[in-house]
Amino acid sequence: MKNTMMDFQLTLAPMLERAGTLYPTVQIVSRMPDRSLYRCTYADLVTRVRTLARALIAAGLQRGERVATLMWNHSVHLETYFGVPLAGGVIHTLNLRLPAQQLALIANHAGDRFLVVDEILLPAFQRFISDAPFERVFVHRTGSGPFDRYEDYEALLKTAPDDCALPQLNEYDAAAMCYTSGTTGDPKGVVYSHRALVLHSMALAMADSLAFSHNDSVMPVVPMFHANAWGFPYVATMVGAKQVLPGPYLDAESLLDLCQREQVTLATGVPTVWMAVCAELDKNPRHWRVAPGLRLAVGGSAPAESLIRRFDAHNIRLIHAWGMTESTPIASICRLRPSLGEMSEDEQYALRSTQGTPVPFMEARVISRTGPVPWDGKTMGEVQLRGPWVASSYFNMPELGDKWTPDGWLRTGDVVTVNEHGYLHIVDRTKDLIKSGGEWISSVDLENAIVGYAGVKEAAVIAVPHPKWDERPIAVIVAGEPKPKPEELNDFLAKRFAKWQLPDAYIFVEELPHTSTGKLLKSALRDRYRDYLNGHFSIAD
Ligand code: ADP
Repeated sequence: MKNTMMDFQLTLAPMLERAGTLYPTVQIVSRMPDRSLYRCTYADLVTRVRTLARALIAAGLQRGERVATLMWNHSVHLETYFGVPLAGGVIHTLNLRLPAQQLALIANHAGDRFLVVDEILLPAFQRFISDAPFERVFVHRTGSGPFDRYEDYEALLKTAPDDCALPQLNEYDAAAMCYTSGTTGDPKGVVYSHRALVLHSMALAMADSLAFSHNDSVMPVVPMFHANAWGFPYVATMVGAKQVLPGPYLDAESLLDLCQREQVTLATGVPTVWMAVCAELDKNPRHWRVAPGLRLAVGGSAPAESLIRRFDAHNIRLIHAWGMTESTPIASICRLRPSLGEMSEDEQYALRSTQGTPVPFMEARVISRTGPVPWDGKTMGEVQLRGPWVASSYFNMPELGDKWTPDGWLRTGDVVTVNEHGYLHIVDRTKDLIKSGGEWISSVDLENAIVGYAGVKEAAVIAVPHPKWDERPIAVIVAGEPKPKPEELNDFLAKRFAKWQLPDAYIFVEELPHTSTGKLLKSALRDRYRDYLNGHFSIAD
């Protein structure tokens, strides 16, 4: 029997058009490099997106060709999020924090044809221009600096012909691409279809996910070059929410200032960003008047339970989400549900710091060497994913095909346990797990416990080779005041962990290395402390 439904393509076009039609006056607020706030509306956005799409077509952009961006979070970046795909092209957001050489490699690998770059990022761009593939470079001008070598983005918009029709899009057309942040190896490219972006947005907006609404004022703090800012700009547009884009100012005070001024109700960022914001709130609790019921989505790495508790004390709800570039990125969100039954406060916090359950249409299975793991909250296995917004390959890297199982599931490389209700708890990334005397130790669990101790700002637990036990954990810690003593920390951890799981050493350092997306760069720490327990190490703490 043939169904009687229309053949309607799930593309970004109707998402944008609806915002322009139904929410023309809703604002998009951008923090500019001079710290002023620039305001435009969805009506403006739609006009400029259409203009950009026509200008790109007139400039010769062909279907599927890449337009790179090197920009902070602001309304022009949002324009390219829609304008490039509506022209039939693919927006490729370059990670401005990567070293120049890596940026050049990525832009060449992606085959980027044009680039749109923030004027304030020209110095970063100039470091890899000689190796970059771009045919034309358009500068989003915010200052008065001369840039004779490149074109003005606004001038590009002026070249848009009135009579240029936008292409008919298919939902399986490529719309965007990102590279992984390279925490465990070289960055790998993932190409998103219109359909993947649309369905991901629908799943995120749902009430039991992040409950996006047109009543919200949404602030993606996570950069728009990091996995599509976790889809936030698309979801906010889809529901007609106000958008607040922080530009280059990601320090705690600037973010809280924006939250207060623009009455932000939903924001997203990595734990390091929210740790700084929480510290500022703890320091000046009466100074900030944020919107009641503010929710902060957190992901990229696991937030400590203590951070969730501290935000609750400020009446701000931290919502934990997990995902990866390969899954557009969000795969699971942690929300408590009534069917969990009575729980103590401690049990609730413990559950809220897990990665939660897969969102609708995301399928997850957890596989150990002996097959699917039982839902007992103890047995570890790798979580594997399947779903309409999960990548089925990397862009032009056929040699990495074994990232997928023969039956088509993505091997995430994340080791998890599953509790009796199906909540996933990430124990570690495969490469970060510590194997001591044949037993696994979770570096993440130790880190999250250590940062819950007074005077600890940040902690990384890594495996170092050990002559007898193969590997042992050591903790590398950034301390504040009062600086904790190793014996005290050890006693504190001994209440929660078995003796053999406790770190063999507590090393205090000024700072820890991070990746371009704010994650702990454990590979650098492992290199640095490789010989620590073999006695060949000498470092002044
Ligand atoms: P990279 O793999 O280079 O870090 P991604 O930004 O795609 O690039 O990172 C995805 C990975 O980040 C996940 O596989 C997981 O290891 C980690 N991650 C993401 N969200 C969380 C979270 N909420 N808790 C713990 N780890 C997370």
